[in-house]
Amino acid sequence: MSPIAKNLQHVRSQIVVSAERAHRAPSSIQLLAVSKTFGTDAVMEAVRAGQQAFGENYLQEALEKIAAMKSLAPAAQLQWHFIGPIQSNKTRPIAESFDWVHSVDREKVARRLSEQRPPELGALNICLQVNISGEQSKSGLAPEELPAVAAQVAALPNLALRGLMAIPEPSDDVARQRAAFAAVRGLYESLRADGLPLDTLSMGMSADLEVAVAEGATIVRIGSAIFGARNYM
Ligand SMILES: *Cc1c(COP(=O)(O)O)cnc(C)c1O
Repeated sequence: MSPIAKNLQHVRSQIVVSAERAHRAPSSIQLLAVSKTFGTDAVMEAVRAGQQAFGENYLQEALEKIAAMKSLAPAAQLQWHFIGPIQSNKTRPIAESFDWVHSVDREKVARRLSEQRPPELGALNICLQVNISGEQSKSGLAPEELPAVAAQVAALPNLALRGLMAIPEPSDDVARQRAAFAAVRGLYESLRADGLPLDTLSMGMSADLEVAVAEGATIVRIGSAIFGARNYM
């Protein structure tokens, strides 16, 4: 078995164990393999091990990889998720090439994605990114901005608002990790209570997968635990 196949198997079993501890169905958690900085050979190994959903942060790198994978594995039915910062003048290729965008943090970006989404591709799945730890440098909506922006985005025709994404401040303290994920979940539940039909909580990375699953993550975004250490961020 290739190292990537072995790592995938390990991460999948971590998801099962974490779900069972949280009394959740393992199938309610989707594994997104974050392949940023890794080439098509690594992605191909993951595909051979049964992985179909991939997350990318850097647009140019992602577009090249998506095109290359189309010719390397035309039958693979891969799903591409954009999870990186978005410049509002670069929305068109995102709208044209991705199935999901997790990192929408302003109405303008959502509006452009909706306008530029080719209708034949169906609705583009959207998560709003929330800045849960209040870090100045981090992107994401402040919790108090969320209800108004969520209502605006939900009304856009070519998008499907699915839920929230967050990257809490890294911490070795499990209680702090847990509190941050619980806060995201609270925001998600209150939007649902307002009537938005959300079904997705995108949270949890290699270091905090289990805690995120305990607090309700439905997509975990896992990079280094699958592909190994990155050379650059
Ligand atoms: C890089 C990245 C990940 C994956 O992080 P790992 O710690 O390597 O699992 C997840 N989400 C986002 C937004 C990222 O940029």
